[in-house]
Amino acid sequence: MGLAGIGVADHLPLLPDRDPVLSMNLSELGDYVTEVQELKDRFPNYVLLGVEADYRPQTVSEVRALLENNPFDYVIGSVHHLGNWGFDDPRQMRAYADRKIDDVWIEYFELVGEAAESGLFTVLGHLDLVKKFGYRPTRTLEAELDRLVERVARAGVLVEVNTAGLHKPVGEAYPSLDILQRLRAAKVTITFGSDAHRPQEVGRDFDHAVALARSAGYDEFATLVAQKNGRRALVRSEPLRAATSGRNLGDSSSGGRARQ
Ligand code: FE
Repeated sequence: MGLAGIGVADHLPLLPDRDPVLSMNLSELGDYVTEVQELKDRFPNYVLLGVEADYRPQTVSEVRALLENNPFDYVIGSVHHLGNWGFDDPRQMRAYADRKIDDVWIEYFELVGEAAESGLFTVLGHLDLVKKFGYRPTRTLEAELDRLVERVARAGVLVEVNTAGLHKPVGEAYPSLDILQRLRAAKVTITFGSDAHRPQEVGRDFDHAVALARSAGYDEFATLVAQKNGRRALVRSEPLRAATSGRNLGDSSSGGRARQ
């Protein structure tokens, strides 16, 4: 596919819960790290060891400890829960009926802003995941969106253009063109992720993602370069032009388990 690199980012153990459908268990983390490190050795400067970690206010210190104690090249930070509600979990979809949809979106954006400011993450995952099942707010959340984008920009964290949403009920990439335009105006740097949960999904729909980024005004994207000292990867800017030919595009997607 002409990818310049592949980041493997399985789901960090889900704290404080355990759910083998959603993430590995704590006892499997060491094997995961070893397995991806072996791939890094076999494909130097090509494979990166990443992880996707949940941002939940009550687990910040445990997550921080797990991240500090493992040599991850990068960490995707994602919000999948509002309180105890896994709002993107098809098994918990019914709870949308009991909520005011605008409040759901506002609470979600607030948590993503906190995630950006936590300093835990290299990349923010699927920035508007709350749209996954197609539940839209009743009004444009202008002020809330502006505040979120400002927090993301100030934190200096990357945002992924994630193509998995094209295959969910919402049928569009994360984040939307509107949000991408706001991120671009705020000089937030993007990267690309396919959120692949199966090998054949790696790099899926990247042509679409590149076109989307370009129409939002982007002409550069970030790739990640692993460091030898065990620190987080360096961010390197690449012209987006090169990506349109299918070359030089990194994929910092998830691999492994099924999160629907
Ligand atoms: Fe996710």
